[in-house]
Amino acid sequence: MSSIYIKNAYIVTANGKGEIIKDGSIFIEDGEIKEVGKSDSMKAYRPEYLIDAAHKVVMPGLINTHVHLAQALMRGLVPDNVNLIEWLRDWVWPLQGNMTEDEAAVSTELTLLEMINSGTTTFLATSVNGRYGVNRTIDAVYKSGIRGAIGRQIMDIPGYADQPQMLHSGLIEDADKSLKEFEYVYGRWNNKDGRIWIWLSPRTPGAVSDDLFRRISLVVSEHNSGVTMHLAEVRDDIRYFGSRNTSPARFLKDLGMVGPKHVYVHGVWLTEEDMGIFAGTGTSVSHNPSSNSKLGSGIAKVVSMLRNGVNVTLGTDGGPSNDTYDLLRELRLALLLQKVDNLDPQAFNLMEAIKLATINGARGLGIETMVGSIEVGKRADLAIFDVRKPYTSPSVIAPISNLVYAGTGSDATDVIVDGKFLKKNGKVLVLDESLVIEKAERASAELLARAGKKDWTGPDPL
Ligand SMILES: [Zn+2]
Repeated sequence: MSSIYIKNAYIVTANGKGEIIKDGSIFIEDGEIKEVGKSDSMKAYRPEYLIDAAHKVVMPGLINTHVHLAQALMRGLVPDNVNLIEWLRDWVWPLQGNMTEDEAAVSTELTLLEMINSGTTTFLATSVNGRYGVNRTIDAVYKSGIRGAIGRQIMDIPGYADQPQMLHSGLIEDADKSLKEFEYVYGRWNNKDGRIWIWLSPRTPGAVSDDLFRRISLVVSEHNSGVTMHLAEVRDDIRYFGSRNTSPARFLKDLGMVGPKHVYVHGVWLTEEDMGIFAGTGTSVSHNPSSNSKLGSGIAKVVSMLRNGVNVTLGTDGGPSNDTYDLLRELRLALLLQKVDNLDPQAFNLMEAIKLATINGARGLGIETMVGSIEVGKRADLAIFDVRKPYTSPSVIAPISNLVYAGTGSDATDVIVDGKFLKKNGKVLVLDESLVIEKAERASAELLARAGKKDWTGPDPL
């Protein structure tokens, strides 16, 4: 029986009471949290592995609810001064539409490496297109030891919002084939080792016909699977719903596309009415503040959504829009933006924000009884962060605040999923870091050339 004992830790439980345990300990056996409490009140154990977590913060493993696995490779390949429509049409889609399966595999490895390195233990992947190799992508996720819900892309119109022909030809897919492949990978992988889930990822409103949305809804309820999709990201999206005399949430409700394990991404332009529909149906929103900032999309009304009872989660989005998959840094921006947007430093506090990246994320994925907080009986998914760094010191008074406001995900010394180390003593064990970086460096230049952008020097002002 494998066991881990963590002692002298500053523990953020993210449990229902929002408890923080100073001088705390955690005992893990066979991948499950068996005891959590003050170090001096714990039972005596003889663990296989002992971690002295003095000067460290132990968090529930972070949960990133919006990840583009194929986009890490495109970090720094796209201008940083274009709006979403131009960004997609002229840059992101031509690059993705020219991507080979091998390049997508490198991108997936790079994303996994970055997430594991920075304390993420569970994620939701969006838009996994057939050209990336769906089965191969899932296999890479499984082998890394992380937990992941993988959204197989589906579409039947090559458009975006009210522009029906916007998509790059290399990304166009046939809905029947996508659904067939979904069924195959679902049968092969879903719930494997309690770590992999297969979801559907309709491309966007305007790229999926109403009929296809209805089919998706049936498939999802038949399998008790999940759905994730970009929604109400920019004002152009709202124009599309307006042209159909509806609103984002009403549109989805009418098609049977709301409920638990329905995670809609961005939601910057949702109205109070939309929030009410999502809250009443247990539908989640993934907040991606860096991406919304970089693309000038707007600031999502997170405080309003929470007050209205919506389950808000946190996501990083992809390489060209964030540009990092470090969820801890996303947490910092989420906090700051809500304070400034509400012109009120009390509008959103540290512990509320941490919930977005932990238990709310778990709820969004429908796995809140399994992970998302540090509680007895849950699986042992943890991230341990060193807060004795020049930029997080002095950390004796408020290590959690220092970590969130001043730290980075790379400060994670140990990252544990199901009681197994994916990162240990500062080193990622499950992927070869230098090899992955080497492959990515080579692949990005080749991809740029293939997409007809050989002479483009990137957003650096050369
Ligand atoms: Zn996205």
